[in-house]
Amino acid sequence: MSFAKQRRFGPTPAYPEVEAWVEPDRKFYAIAGPCSIEGLEQAQECARAAAEAGATHFRGGVFSAGTYPRDRFGLRHEHLKAMRVAARMNDLKTVIEVIDIRDLDTIAMYADAFQVGARQAQGYALLQELAKSGKEVFLKNGSGMKLDEILGACEYLARGNCRPRIVIRGSSSFHDHVRWDLSVSLIPAIKAITQVPVLVDPSHGTGRRDLVRPMALAGIAAGADGVLVEMHPKPDKSVSDAEQAVSLEDGKAILMTAKMVWAAAREW
Ligand code: PEP
Ligand code: MN
Repeated sequence: MSFAKQRRFGPTPAYPEVEAWVEPDRKFYAIAGPCSIEGLEQAQECARAAAEAGATHFRGGVFSAGTYPRDRFGLRHEHLKAMRVAARMNDLKTVIEVIDIRDLDTIAMYADAFQVGARQAQGYALLQELAKSGKEVFLKNGSGMKLDEILGACEYLARGNCRPRIVIRGSSSFHDHVRWDLSVSLIPAIKAITQVPVLVDPSHGTGRRDLVRPMALAGIAAGADGVLVEMHPKPDKSVSDAEQAVSLEDGKAILMTAKMVWAAAREW
């Protein structure tokens, strides 16, 4: 009997669709881009670098939100087009976060894939709508969500016709050397239960530029199917999450090394 099934405390875990999920192929996911899209030029620079490093998806906050209303995350409609133009010119898929169901139809016109941010990860009405989208949905863990809650949220997605992917992006903890603490052990623990692809997000998972590379590689070595990295042409000038933004050059090196570690890890 699996470890997941032996647990006796709390509500009985119930995520049958997640457990039964069949992912047709094992491939590497590399999502890269700035925290927020700031304009066409910035988007193009980031997308070009992402493509050069072999990224599969171009990310960028357009509708995201941060912990505090004063945080400047996402400049909304004006940058949706910039994002898609930059992605298309570089043959990348767009990943755009949705925080409000009312924006879903608009975002769907520009998004190849959706992101559910940490703060919306238990917004079940939103998850139910996204489940019907037929697209890839990258679900980030909420900063206080345990394994069962992450898989429970994923179950809402798995019940529809979308393709769920889980992104481990760190949790609240007592540690004060990081903004959020990346629980690397969640990765193999989730992968022991489901074939839903799991990605590691070392950018939000630490909040520290200097820790992005080691934690990206740790996550991949632990079995992650891919990585999400925030990068920016001028990291210190990033309008959001500047402390964790890496340069385009460093971002490219991280993505390429991560892919090599992934290729080596899957030989096990
Ligand atoms: C983001 O991806 O830029 C973001 C705000 O992520 P999270 O929801 O993980 O904080
Ligand atoms: Mn961010």
